[in-house]
Amino acid sequence: MSLPEQMRQKLAAKALQRQLERAGAQAAAPFEPDRVTQQERASLARFEDMPAYQQVRIMRQMGTTLKVESPFFRVHEGSAGATTRIGGAEYINFANYNYLGLSGDAAVTEAAKQALDRYGTSASASRMVAGERPVQRELERALANFYEVEDCVAFVSGHATNVTVIGALFAPGDLVIHDSLAHNSIVQGAQLSGAKRLSFPHNDWQALDALLARVRGEYRRVLIAIEGLYSMDGDIPDLARFAEVKQRHAAFLMVDEAHALGVLGARGQGVREHCGVAPTDVDIWMGTMSKTLAGCGGYIAGSTVLTDMLRHLAPGFLYSVGLAPALAAGSLAALGALCAQPERVMRLQANGQRFLARARKAGLHTGTSAGYSVVPVITGSSMKAAVLANALFEEGINVQPIFYPAVEEAAARLRFFICSTHTDEQIDYTVDAVARLVSTCR
Ligand code: PMP
Repeated sequence: MSLPEQMRQKLAAKALQRQLERAGAQAAAPFEPDRVTQQERASLARFEDMPAYQQVRIMRQMGTTLKVESPFFRVHEGSAGATTRIGGAEYINFANYNYLGLSGDAAVTEAAKQALDRYGTSASASRMVAGERPVQRELERALANFYEVEDCVAFVSGHATNVTVIGALFAPGDLVIHDSLAHNSIVQGAQLSGAKRLSFPHNDWQALDALLARVRGEYRRVLIAIEGLYSMDGDIPDLARFAEVKQRHAAFLMVDEAHALGVLGARGQGVREHCGVAPTDVDIWMGTMSKTLAGCGGYIAGSTVLTDMLRHLAPGFLYSVGLAPALAAGSLAALGALCAQPERVMRLQANGQRFLARARKAGLHTGTSAGYSVVPVITGSSMKAAVLANALFEEGINVQPIFYPAVEEAAARLRFFICSTHTDEQIDYTVDAVARLVSTCR
C-alpha cells in the first residue's frame, strides 16, 4: 500500500474512532425531556437511531475502511482446543478457555452422553418447582468439597450468577466496591442491586483500604468484589491482603474464580492455593463451568447460610431453569479429572510461563500478566490489534483482538488464552510470528 493511501486510512480510522467515542458518550448521557423536539421523538422509537446500534455500525465501517476482515463470529467446525478447524483449514488456537483440554475429552463427553440418555437435553423447569436431578446436586457437593466449604449452588450462566447474586444480596444503602478491571457481570450485578458502586485501582489493596477507611461508616453492608486471575490482563491479586482489608472494615469478600480454577495452585485449587489463604477467609467463592470445567453455567460456594439464601431467593436460580443434567455431568467429570490429573495443571502453568518468557524476550508488551492462563500482547490501538490478528490468521494462528470499548483504546490488545494442550512448538511458533509481524502492522 502506498504511503499516501496508508495516511488516508489512518486519518479515516481516527475519525471513526472519535465517532465511536461520541456514540458511547451519547449512550451514557442523561435524558432531558424538555429539550426533545417532535422530530427527535420519532427517532427515539427507531432501533437504528440508538447509540448502541451506531457503535456497531461504526465498528463495521472501520473494518471496511481499513480493509480488515472481521475476526468475530468465526465458525469452528469441531471442538476447539489447542487447534481448531475454520473454513476447512487447521489453526493453532488461542481464542478459547478450554484450559485443561477437558471439553472434547473422551471421559467427560461419555459422562455427558450418559446423562443425556438418562435425563434428556433439558431440566425443563426451575429446580425448586420441578425438582432436582441427582447429578446437579452431585456437582454442587463436589465443588463444595473442592473449595473445602459447606455448600455450593449452581446456576445456568456464569454471567447471570454474578448479576443475580450481587443483585439479590445487596440493596440501596449498601456499598459494592470492585476492582477497576472487574468483569462486566460484577458491575451489572452491582448496578442491579441499587447499592452505591465504587471501584478501586486494579489490584491495589492499599488504595481499597484507604478508601474504606474514609467511606465505610456511610454504608450498611459492604461487598468487596475481585477476581482470582484477571481475564484481560492475566494478573493475580494478593488475596491474603484483600482478606485482611475485608476483616478490618467488616465487609464481605467475593472472589470470581472464572479464570483461576484449574489454573492456579499446584492442584489447580485457584487463587486461595496460589496465595495460601484459608477457604473460609473468602465469603463468596464464585466461578464458571465454561472454562476448566468444560461446560456452561456458574456456581457460588460458601457457607450453608449463603447457599440456602441464594437457593430460595436469587431470581436467577429461582425463576430460571435448572442446569441441564448433561452439562452438570460433564462438569462433574471434568472436576474429577482436574483432581485426579494435576499434571494437566502443571502443563498449563509451564505453557503460560514459556509463552510469557519468550514474548518478553522478544520485546512484546505483555502488561502485568503473571503467565498463567491469560497473556495479552498490547498493541496500543484497536486498528493495530485487528490488522495483527488477521496477519496471524494468515499464518495459521487464531487469536482474538480486544478493542475499545472492551478496554481503553491505548490498551487494545491481542489476548492469548493458554491451555495445557498447547505444545512447546505451537507456543514458540506463535510468539515468534507475533514478534515478526507486530512491527509491520500499522
Ligand atoms: N466472570 C469472569 C471473570 C469472566 O471472564 C466471565 C466470562 N467468561 C464470566 C464471569 C461469565 O462467565 P460465562 O461466560 O460462563 O457466562
